[in-house]
Amino acid sequence: MPSSPALFLDRDGNLIEDHHHTCRVEQIALIPGVRSALHACLGAGYKLFVLTNQSGLNRGIFTWEQYEACNARMLELLDLPAPGILEIKAAPERPDEPSLYRKPSPRFILEMIAKHDLDPVRSWMTGDRCTDWDAGLNAGIKSCAMRSGAGRPEDFIYAESKGITIRKDFPEFVRMDLGLKW
Ligand SMILES: [Mg+2]
Repeated sequence: MPSSPALFLDRDGNLIEDHHHTCRVEQIALIPGVRSALHACLGAGYKLFVLTNQSGLNRGIFTWEQYEACNARMLELLDLPAPGILEIKAAPERPDEPSLYRKPSPRFILEMIAKHDLDPVRSWMTGDRCTDWDAGLNAGIKSCAMRSGAGRPEDFIYAESKGITIRKDFPEFVRMDLGLKW
């Protein structure tokens, strides 16, 4: 069987609205169009993964239980058909702590490429911060920068300097770069 393309998805500011250390279930709101866009990606054979930096865990701002409840609410709102999102990885470390998986580390992406026989040439990392885009580039896949989250003007200047595609939001990326319609 040929290897599959994959999407590595940042959570906050990419799939759901970014509330800065989002940790309450009632804060969870999908960015408009994301649900339909992800359904289209699954229909086109993309394997889906979420990779999220959650330093609020090690900062003591919220608990793993709160984090898991937020993910459960997001998945409920997305209502994806099987196989849905194959794996969700959170890095709980603060930026000043050593971490294997905290973006811009490519480790999770590289592990998933090997484990799920993914095609890096047709795979993307999408997110709203420089650390997301660098994680994709560090893993040797493409990155797309979203304006739907916490990115600052200087971040998008950085993205341009690295030749990273910049889009308004995830649905625009799916239409423009993956060529999918729904
Ligand atoms: Mg984000």
